[in-house]
Amino acid sequence: MEIIKTDVAIVGAGGAGLRAAIALAEADPKLRIALISKVYPMRSHTCAAEGGAAGVVKSDDSLDLHFNDTVGGGDWLSDQDAVEYFINEAPKELTQLEHWGCPWSREPDGSVAVRPFGGMKIKRTWFAADKSGFHILHTLFQTSLKYPSIQRFDEYYATDLLVEDGRCQGLTALEIRNGEMKQFQAGAVIIAAGGGGKMFPFTTNGNIKTGDGMALAYRAGTPLKDMEFVQYHPTGLPNNGILLTEGCRGEGGILLNKDGRRYLQDYGMGPETPVGQPVLKTMELGPRDRLSQAFWGEQQKGNTVKTPWGDCVLLDMRHLGEKKIDERLPLVRDLCISYLGKDPVKEPIPIRPVVHYMMGGIHTDVQAATRLPGLFAAGECACVSINGANRLGSNSLTELLVFGRRAALSAMAHLQSNPTPSSDAALAAKAKESQNRIQALFDKSDGTETIAGLRQEMMDTMEANVGIYRTGEGLAAACEKIAELRRRYANIALTDKSHVYNTDLMQALELGSMLDCAEAVTVGARDRKESRGAHQRLDFTARDDENLLKHSLAHYHPTEPPRIEYLDVVITKSQPGVRDYSGAKK
Ligand SMILES: Cc1cc2nc3c(=O)[nH]c(=O)nc-3n(C[C@H](O)[C@H](O)[C@H](O)COP(=O)(O)OP(=O)(O)OC[C@H]3O[C@@H](n4cnc5c(N)ncnc54)[C@H](O)[C@@H]3O)c2cc1C
Repeated sequence: MEIIKTDVAIVGAGGAGLRAAIALAEADPKLRIALISKVYPMRSHTCAAEGGAAGVVKSDDSLDLHFNDTVGGGDWLSDQDAVEYFINEAPKELTQLEHWGCPWSREPDGSVAVRPFGGMKIKRTWFAADKSGFHILHTLFQTSLKYPSIQRFDEYYATDLLVEDGRCQGLTALEIRNGEMKQFQAGAVIIAAGGGGKMFPFTTNGNIKTGDGMALAYRAGTPLKDMEFVQYHPTGLPNNGILLTEGCRGEGGILLNKDGRRYLQDYGMGPETPVGQPVLKTMELGPRDRLSQAFWGEQQKGNTVKTPWGDCVLLDMRHLGEKKIDERLPLVRDLCISYLGKDPVKEPIPIRPVVHYMMGGIHTDVQAATRLPGLFAAGECACVSINGANRLGSNSLTELLVFGRRAALSAMAHLQSNPTPSSDAALAAKAKESQNRIQALFDKSDGTETIAGLRQEMMDTMEANVGIYRTGEGLAAACEKIAELRRRYANIALTDKSHVYNTDLMQALELGSMLDCAEAVTVGARDRKESRGAHQRLDFTARDDENLLKHSLAHYHPTEPPRIEYLDVVITKSQPGVRDYSGAKK
């Protein structure tokens, strides 16, 4: 097996991975950096982000306000030391992107424009029309090209971490185009491999979001944190789950039920304000968890619109006018016309909530360090945690930058402590184990389970039992089913045994990652007997700060369900309070 020796290996070349790579290359041009990605970097999911990135920039805003919105939005499950670091670094990172060439949209006076976003009680979301993620990723990618020390390994699929002498010392990865396994030896590894929304059938997430990075760390013995918190975005296209950004509502779009009523006023989200008046703080700009729950409420009352794709409500943007829609939301217009045959300039658009983001992920501290020395994580695959029980829209893109850089600095500090690498022979033996695992998939001739079949059963289970509202009964059934699917996974058959671009093999490995992550989600949700943020239980409807103001940590077991440990939340200055989006003056 070919050995590639490097100082820092990064798994993932989306926003977080690229930002980490640039920070390392800038800090020390002599560092050898391996940037490993299962797709070409510009195909990472960051590219799909539409709405924008939050950071305090205007004089009517303050770091304290950003802190309060984030912590309250997260239903007080965020670690407040991490949030403090995040809000302080956010404006610096967004300005840095500007200097690298990110074309942020402008106010008429030439200053950076900001738009309102859900749960942010003041305008603070920087945006580049509704293609913010594309421009951010492009800016990072082109900046990374300046640094010869960043060596890219595009279309390499990371399979296992190399853990020896109690430290992470590299990883194995398959070169997808020829099926060859490579061993990356590294002084430190940063995982920046994105989320895992694909364990659900109806999601805004691209096909590559299969929780691989989380599974890599989890199997190597480092716990996954707060996995039960899965975010639904309230406005997805009903036929395919493609996102219509929160920017639609930020620009003034409104949500209507089948009777044309702005129903959010019935869900504690403020008095109805006349269309065209600012609705900031309330109604359509409430947080995502609350808006998705309100949709469910309308569905129960029979107030939704029936469509060929199921129950919907309507997103009405007609009053914004063609000029504004074309200037601020051109992609949204394009998506509505292309995928639904409906023009938002002329008619309301049917939408419904869709799985969007995982608040949980690899447990890290505020330095982006995991419990495994030498292993760091950043971006959606990590849980640091700034997002708590419910992420506010536009905090994620900024998080990639802030904690991508932070992970790089921590990895550098780890290298400077000069850990002695284990022997080549010891690492090679570990790498061989990974290779054997893959080979076993090829050798198995009597597999009876299909990848597509198991994946469908997993998605059906998650959709039926682990959705916007959950019950103890449903979650117990989901835990049992996912455990069964993990057992049956041992019996899958590969239909394609070739070594060149074997997508069958990739899908088998991705399914393994999703099943491990799905089990952490279901067991964490079953055991959290309260309702907080995105985790809402019909059998435990109240938040239970006395017993559950805690992070859950899921510890991997190869054949048994995970063991759940609880960890105190870091509270520095904001004590848990009531989340109020009614707009009432206090
Ligand atoms: C449609 C959409 C719109 C969004 N809009 C916004 C928004 O407006 N504002 C906001 O703040 N957030 C938004 N989000 C959320 C945000 O975009 C994501 O959380 C974020 O981009 C994730 O970035 P990342 O760097 O962590 O991972 P990604 O960008 O998903 O990149 C993951 C990388 O890991 C690599 N990888 C994964 N597995 C492996 C493996 N096994 N081996 C090798 N490489 C691997 C992939 O190739 C890829 O390069 C949106 C999300 C979606 C889906």
